[in-house]
Amino acid sequence: MNKIFIALCLILVNVSFAQQTDYVDFERINAAISFELDSSRVNGIIIMEFKILKDVDSIFVDAKNMTFTFEQGDHDKIKFKNDGEKLWLLSQFKAGESYDVSFEYSVRPKKALYTLKRNENWQIWTQGQGKYTSNWLPSIDDVNDKIEFDLKFLAPSTYELISNGELKSQAETNSNILWEYDMKTPMSSYLVAVVLGKYKKQTETSKSGIPLEYYYYPEDSLKVVPTYRYSKQMFDFLEEEIGFDYPWQNYKQVPVHDFLYAGMENTSCTIFSDAFVVDSIGFNDKNYVNVNAHELAHQWFGNLVTAKSGDHHWLQEGFATYYALLAERDIFDDNHYFFKLYESAVDLGRQDIAGQGTSLLNPKSSSLTFYQRGAWVLHALRSKVGDVIFREAVKNYLNRYQFDTVETSYFIKEVERLYGRSLTGFVNVWIKQKVFPVDAAFNLLKNQSTYINEYLMVDCQTKSSKCAEYLKYYVSDEAKVKIISQAPDLVTKDTFKHGLKVRQAISQYVTKIPEDLKEEYESLLNDKSYITIENTLYNLWSNFPEERAKYLSETRNVVGFRDKNVRLLWIVLNLSTPFYQADNKQGLFEELVNYTDEAYNADLRINAFQYLDLIKSCNEKCISNLENAKSHHNWRLVKFAKQFSEKLQNKE
Ligand SMILES: [Zn+2]
Repeated sequence: MNKIFIALCLILVNVSFAQQTDYVDFERINAAISFELDSSRVNGIIIMEFKILKDVDSIFVDAKNMTFTFEQGDHDKIKFKNDGEKLWLLSQFKAGESYDVSFEYSVRPKKALYTLKRNENWQIWTQGQGKYTSNWLPSIDDVNDKIEFDLKFLAPSTYELISNGELKSQAETNSNILWEYDMKTPMSSYLVAVVLGKYKKQTETSKSGIPLEYYYYPEDSLKVVPTYRYSKQMFDFLEEEIGFDYPWQNYKQVPVHDFLYAGMENTSCTIFSDAFVVDSIGFNDKNYVNVNAHELAHQWFGNLVTAKSGDHHWLQEGFATYYALLAERDIFDDNHYFFKLYESAVDLGRQDIAGQGTSLLNPKSSSLTFYQRGAWVLHALRSKVGDVIFREAVKNYLNRYQFDTVETSYFIKEVERLYGRSLTGFVNVWIKQKVFPVDAAFNLLKNQSTYINEYLMVDCQTKSSKCAEYLKYYVSDEAKVKIISQAPDLVTKDTFKHGLKVRQAISQYVTKIPEDLKEEYESLLNDKSYITIENTLYNLWSNFPEERAKYLSETRNVVGFRDKNVRLLWIVLNLSTPFYQADNKQGLFEELVNYTDEAYNADLRINAFQYLDLIKSCNEKCISNLENAKSHHNWRLVKFAKQFSEKLQNKE
């Protein structure tokens, strides 16, 4: 054991008893960063400014697996120690004094920053929450130290580079561009983001004058409108509804390949999965509207006021889910809003029955609890105290704690202050207790929505004479979907005349097609839904073997979502239809195998692997792509690849 090691142990013991934020406040991080794309390496020069709050002889910066270079002669009074997790700064730091340190660093990030190559084009993106920004940028992993980040990036001039804050300058030198971004206010480190890639953008300005930037891949220009539909309306709505101005300089949204989640609310720079980049048909099936609103709501709830710890995580996710619901209510209608609340109440009730419910304050809660129960708390609270008090309390809460961190009681106190009565009983039932108050939730819904009452009343689990009547006209499309799922044999020619969701349900539940519905069913191949088209093609192909060539011919140019759901099914059905386009079979098979290559998104690769499994044709190339998939950053692909690989080996 050497002396440095003992000294470090003592320091670690010391800091574990007190939070580092008691001793030091990191105020600003200034960094200039460049990328070595081929080796996925990040190099940077960094200046950190901090203020000492209490005398202390050591502080640390989180910095995972980095190497450092310190200028000779600099930092006479500060010594540095790198333990691979943290960079320790050792000196006789005095309370009230400000310091700055600068150094160079280099790292090949294990996570949090991902470098991908697609068709000769690079893409870099980051994910700080749950992964720690300190894997690529020396920073402070503790959310309670909010820092102003001013970042510069050097990138090849053929790429766009997007980061937090306002783009101050863009200087071109020797086929590179130095991008300078500027933040005016502090934030937690997990919200730092950077994206590098081939992008174009469209911009709008909010009612309040905030620039809204919508990024897209150059080949996706026709998808911009359906993908970003309602963005400005939701932005204007949330500013008005929350009653607190959007707190950052601008708002950018950037799709990336193989993102780990649906979206991430990095400050002023949301990153989202390009699976949500859809055309106008895909919009009907799986659009970005909800995720768009959710990440936007986080710009206030999460980014401006941040939960102090995992115990209060719902202050982020519950609020974002609730305000996204309000934005959707503004776009669609009350029925949409109440139906989503209804669905989440059912899910929460089921979670409790399965014995998996937790208090909302349990940091190990499921996403369902954090997001949906959190949203329910706010709906129930607003129903109890009324719109005026609720909105005023939210405004006060944001005003009082902006750029700071919060706990559940801070918010509740703001409501109590205006409500004039204790909310202890409410908090116990809705927030603290383990069980979600499902009866209270249903009572609220029944009192507030005739739509939900109707939905609950319509039940054809045991068929009654009314069920066929319902399907004709009486009830909402949602209720019709419910009936079709319970009694698909009630579907008649007339049922096809209802809305898109009803027809989607027909394609899903009516899998044995009666001869007299054949014509209507065939019309679903032209419906404006890729889910309907996929289901319909398969069902028609299975039910009417003599017409297979006709169905394949009709759908030969349909691709579907970014994971090519319709195209892959079409290829496999074609390969299983001996006489249709007989000379092209080899080419189609190769196309299918090709989609397992690392040049494609994880979702598409999984789909292609699954079909190759189904037709028992995972050849040499497929197996080699499967091996390669095991080291992907996307855990779903990795999990799938390992299972499939095991299955193939067992067969051998
Ligand atoms: Zn969220």
